Amino acid sequence: MNTSVAETMIRFDGIQKWYGQYHALRDINLTVKKGERVVICGPSGSGKSTLIRCVNGLESYQKGTLSVGGTTLGNREGVDRVRQEVGMVFQGFNLFPHMSVLENCLLAPMSALKLPRKEAVDKAMGLLERVKIADKAESYPSQLSGGQQQRVAIARALCMNPRVMLFDEPTSALDPEMIKEVLDVMTDLASTGITMLCVTHEMGFAKVMADRLIFMDQGTVVEERSPRDFFDAPETDRAKAFLAQILQH
Ligand code: ADP
Ligand code: MG
Repeated sequence: MNTSVAETMIRFDGIQKWYGQYHALRDINLTVKKGERVVICGPSGSGKSTLIRCVNGLESYQKGTLSVGGTTLGNREGVDRVRQEVGMVFQGFNLFPHMSVLENCLLAPMSALKLPRKEAVDKAMGLLERVKIADKAESYPSQLSGGQQQRVAIARALCMNPRVMLFDEPTSALDPEMIKEVLDVMTDLASTGITMLCVTHEMGFAKVMADRLIFMDQGTVVEERSPRDFFDAPETDRAKAFLAQILQH
């Protein structure tokens, strides 16, 4: 933990979510402190994406309370406020294909934060340098590899000065040789003290960067532990079965 006085950044309090009849999140109670880095893993369909998408209001929930940085996501105002503070990176890179790398990074800061172009450019170029892709600022997404696009997506999210970054399997669509360059950027980001919530099955990464690991199955949090303890000695049969499966790949 990075803070001595543990300030809460994200708080799930009895969250329940249904897609129609399907009960996707079953009474989620979870607190993430400011600066904490949490990894979420679990089998496909266990509710990982649903859980983190709730944090920036991309999914609604039916019961419970969810707050980010002290703001409750109960209504439109809350969602708008929270979205200003939360950046998200998805499995697919989701860059705008008709815009250059730099333009991708300028759009939200200029429209939502009303930054003057010059300021937005300075900020964007600084962040593109941080993710080691400044030389591609004038390129279009289709001219970049998957790993490069994902690094741009991270820089683009950071241009909004988020207090929280959400990652949903950011490396699972990448060829193996590109996974490391993205994990390196995320590790560098972790060292800045930003709060991170990250769905990933990358064990090495989780062991190094996560303060806590959450294992989900069937819409519930089944284990919540240190990554090392989880991977070395899972407690539940469900976690053991899951780990046996990912180790095969
Ligand atoms: P994970 O990310 O762990 O693979 P998800 O959060 O994507 O899991 O999905 C959890 C469950 O909710 C799955 O059974 C999935 O089929 C279901 N689900 C997800 N999104 C929708 C949706 N938009 N409509 C109906 N069911 C959904
Ligand atoms: Mg998912």
